[in-house]
Amino acid sequence: MNIKENLEIINENIDDAAKRSGRNREDITLVAVTKTVDVERINEAVSCGVKVLGENRVQELTSKFEYVPNDVDWHIIGRLQTNKVKYIADKITLLHSVDRLELAKEVDRQCAKIGKTLDVLLEVNISEEETKAGVDEGEVERFVESVIGFNNIRVKGFMTIAPYGTDNDSARSYFARMRKIYDSYRGVKQGNLDVGILSMGMSNDYIGAILEGSNMVRIGSAIFGKRQ
Ligand SMILES: *Cc1c(COP(=O)(O)O)cnc(C)c1O
Repeated sequence: MNIKENLEIINENIDDAAKRSGRNREDITLVAVTKTVDVERINEAVSCGVKVLGENRVQELTSKFEYVPNDVDWHIIGRLQTNKVKYIADKITLLHSVDRLELAKEVDRQCAKIGKTLDVLLEVNISEEETKAGVDEGEVERFVESVIGFNNIRVKGFMTIAPYGTDNDSARSYFARMRKIYDSYRGVKQGNLDVGILSMGMSNDYIGAILEGSNMVRIGSAIFGKRQ
C-alpha cells in the first residue's frame, strides 16, 4: 500500500463518516501526522493533496520545515516544553496541546514578541489516564477561565486522545464525553475564545471520532505505515 492509496481510503472513510453524522468531507480537517516520516514521503503526501502536517517534536518540525512547500500548515500536536516554544511560535498555525497554564503563558509571551496571535486548542485528558497529558474533565472550566485573558493566543477549541488500545467502537464513549464539553463552548466568542475546532481521532479511531463530532483528525500510521 502506498501513500496515495492510503490517502484515498482515508478520504473516503472521512467522507462517509462525515455524511453519516450530517456533514461533508470539507467540514473535516485531515492533519497528516509526520513524526519519524522523512521529507521525501511527507512531500509525496503533500503532492496527493495533504495541506496540514502535525508533528509532536519541535526538533523534527524545525528540521523539516524549510523542505516542505510553504503553503502547507504545520501544527504541533504533542506535549510541548515551555523552553521550546520560541523555536516554533513563528512556524505553526495551530497548537493542539495546551495542557497547563505555564505553557499558555509562554506561548502568549513568545507570540507577543513576534506580533502574532496563535490559534490553540486546550488538551483534555478525557480518559484520565495518568500517562496522558491534558486537564481533567472537571478542570476544563477553570482552565478556560485562566487562559481567557491572554491577548496573543486564540482559544479555538479542544483536543483529546482516546485511551490506549481502543478502536472505532470502544473509543466512542470517550469522544462523546469530549463532544459534550466542546458543545458547551462551541460558538462562544468571549475574551480570546472563538471555539469551533474539536481535534480527536487517530489512525485507529478516526471514524468513531468523526461520528461523535470531531472536525479535525490526526492520522499518521494509516497514511505513512507503521512507525519503527
Ligand atoms: C502520533 C500521534 C497521532 C497519530 O497517531 P497514528 O496512530 O499514527 O495515527 C495523533 N495524535 C497525536 C497527539 C500523536 O502523538
